[in-house]
Amino acid sequence: MATQADAQELAALRALSASIGLNPHMTQAAGGNTSLKAGDTLWIKASGTWLKDALSDDIMVPVAMAPLLEAVEQRDPAADKPQAFAIEHLNPRGLRPSIETTVHALMPQRVVLHVHCVDTISLAVQADGEAEVARRLGGIEWAWVPYFRPGLPLARGIAEKLRPGVDVLILGNHGLVVAAETVAEAEALLHRVRSLLARPARATAAPDVAALTALAGDYRLPADVKAHAVALDAESLHMAEAGSLYPDHVIFLGQGSVVAKPGEDVAGVIARLGMAPVAILFPGAGVLMRGDASAGADAMQRCLADVTARVDDKARLNYLTPAENDELVNWDAEQYRQKLNAAGTA
Ligand SMILES: [Zn+2]
Repeated sequence: MATQADAQELAALRALSASIGLNPHMTQAAGGNTSLKAGDTLWIKASGTWLKDALSDDIMVPVAMAPLLEAVEQRDPAADKPQAFAIEHLNPRGLRPSIETTVHALMPQRVVLHVHCVDTISLAVQADGEAEVARRLGGIEWAWVPYFRPGLPLARGIAEKLRPGVDVLILGNHGLVVAAETVAEAEALLHRVRSLLARPARATAAPDVAALTALAGDYRLPADVKAHAVALDAESLHMAEAGSLYPDHVIFLGQGSVVAKPGEDVAGVIARLGMAPVAILFPGAGVLMRGDASAGADAMQRCLADVTARVDDKARLNYLTPAENDELVNWDAEQYRQKLNAAGTA
């Protein structure tokens, strides 16, 4: 830390990060990240760590900002491996900076918050999302960035859309970025944007736990009862079945969602697919998770219920393409993040 003021802001950012991390409508699992610029150093959440642990654990990594921005500018693939820019003597645990470090470096403001806010995502997956956001964010300097894989492609997409004064980004099929000069201002802007983008969730009936238990085999109920909603609402189920809506879904749950056919139990689904999916949706009953599903998978299954319940059921949706799904599954940086997640860094 360069100054006392920077140290105070970093402490404030850790407190805000923990509170963001504890709100499943704002961030899920190791998703979302926060940062503070102190002189030439960017303090950013480490890859694979959870924001909710920001107060109890050391999750912030220092990164040398100028060379990272130069790599983005030059379209140097090194920008896709931000660990090369970590300041090693200030990083005794050898943590890797977030895959999304470049998003934070590109924003000129001192404090940047990136969240997978379910209200934002629900709009960011609609084909008419940009127009719908424009209707709601009057008076705010915001920009819409279409979907790109996080890392260098997303950084280039943001660089094209940034203009002076922009402090809010809506990332297509992904989430929200807000930026400000202080932690307090960033928090206020985050809450303002969230409330402007908020939409009510469609209500659903209760899950049929008895029916699910009878079908379960080696599978188990989700950690969060709210995860069932996606299988209990016909519109949400239809949206989920049609494909992958945002990257962390693919990372933690695989491509799209598996829906059981009438009369099928878990064993029947596995036999039909020739593999055991992380989660299975049983229409009208609820969701079952594979016995070894991670805490991150549970958080993302709840997220799917929260997002789809807010999407306008008459809207056309943008799904990740087969190529976009594949590049997430076969991505070295994400395999690292999942490994940390499985190891219980959570
Ligand atoms: Zn993200």
